[in-house]
Amino acid sequence: MKDLQQTKGLLGALPPSETLGSLIKGMELARQGINVCMLSVGEPDFDTPEPVKRACAEAMASGQTKYTIPAGITELREACAEKFRRDGIATSMEQVVITPGGKFACAAAITALCGPQDEVILPVPYWVSHLHMISASGAKPVFVPTTPENNFELTEEDLRHYVTERTRLVVLCSPSNPTGAVCRRRTLEMLGEWALKKNFMILSDEVYEKLAYDPDRPHISIASLSEEVAEHTVTVNSFSKSYAMTGWRVGFLSAPLWLTRKIDALQTHFLANVTTFAQYGALKALRDCSADCERMKNAFAKRRDLFCGLLTRVPGLKFIRPSGAFYVFCDISSYGLGSTEFCDRLMDEAHIAAAPGCGFGADGFVRFSYACSEETLRTAAEALRIFCGNLPDRR
Ligand code: GLU
Repeated sequence: MKDLQQTKGLLGALPPSETLGSLIKGMELARQGINVCMLSVGEPDFDTPEPVKRACAEAMASGQTKYTIPAGITELREACAEKFRRDGIATSMEQVVITPGGKFACAAAITALCGPQDEVILPVPYWVSHLHMISASGAKPVFVPTTPENNFELTEEDLRHYVTERTRLVVLCSPSNPTGAVCRRRTLEMLGEWALKKNFMILSDEVYEKLAYDPDRPHISIASLSEEVAEHTVTVNSFSKSYAMTGWRVGFLSAPLWLTRKIDALQTHFLANVTTFAQYGALKALRDCSADCERMKNAFAKRRDLFCGLLTRVPGLKFIRPSGAFYVFCDISSYGLGSTEFCDRLMDEAHIAAAPGCGFGADGFVRFSYACSEETLRTAAEALRIFCGNLPDRR
C-alpha cells in the first residue's frame, strides 16, 4: 500500500516558520483573552498610509482587477528601477520583477539560481526562511558563524575558508533580521571583490533598508558599489516594513537580465502576477509616501532607544545595540535554557511572545521585535526583568 503521507520531494522535510509560529501561538493566547505582548513577529504596528489605501481602492473601482504582466505593471517596475538607480544601482525596468512580498523574491531568486551540487554561504545567525529556501532548492547551505564582536559580518578569512568551486550564492541581509546589524562598507567591498574573483552571486536582502538609524552606519546597497558587482547581485526589497504594508504582499527585486528572465518565467508558472490593485497601492507608496516612511522610522528609532535602555535592567541578559531593522537579538546563554524553552516559558509565565534563536541558527539567543507601542515595550521589559530575575540557573 502506498503511503500518501510520505512526501519525497525536497519540500518533504520543510518545517513551518518559527517567526510565524510564534505569531500564531501569541494570537491563540490573545483569543483566550490573555493580554500578550507580541514581540515575536516583525511587523510594524502602524497602519498603511491612507493615500496607498485610496490608490488601491481607486484602482479596483476603475477595473484594475485583471491579470497583469507576470513581472508586474510597467509603471511600478519603472518606479522601482528609478528608486534603485537613485540608490546608485545600475538597472533598468526590464531587470525589475514585482513579487508577492520580499519573501517570495528571495525564494524565487534562490530557486532560479540554485540546485543540487550548489553551495550557498549562509552567515549565522540567518533569517529563518533563507535557510529553508536554500534547502528547498536542493542546494547545500554552508553555515558560516559570525560574531557580535565583528558586527555579525563575514570576514575575508571566512570566505577564504568556505568559498569553493561549488559556491553559487552568498546570502547577505543588511540591516539584519535577526540581529539588527548594518553591514559596514569595507565588508561589502570585500564581499563584492570576492564575488567577482570567485564568480558567485550575492542575494542582498534589503527589506529593512529604510530602517537604519545611526548616521555612522548608513545602509549601503552592495549592488551600488559598481556595475560589475551589480551584475553579481540580486537586490531584494519590499513595501512591507518601510510602508507598513505587510499584508499587501508586494516586494520587488533587481537582478542581471539573464536572471530576471528566469525569475520572471518562474512567476509565470507559480503565480501569474501580484494582486493587480495592490500593485497600484505600492506605486502610490513609492511615489508619494516618503514622509510616512520617515515618520515611522523616527518612531522605531525612539522605541529602539527606549527598549534597549529598559533591557539593560534585565539581570543576565546581554545584547548589542542594533543599528537597524526593529529587532534586538539577546544572548540568553546565562540562564541555562535553550531558546525554545526560554520562549515557551516566557509566553506562559510572563505573557511575552518572542522568537527563539534556534530558528535563526543561534540557540543561545532570543529575538525581540520593538515594532510595537511604547506602552507594550514598557510592560514587556518589566515582565521580562521579573521573569529573568526568577530563573534559578542565572550565572
Ligand atoms: N520577516 C518577519 C519576521 O522575521 C515577518 C515574519 C516572516 O515573514 O517570517 O518576523
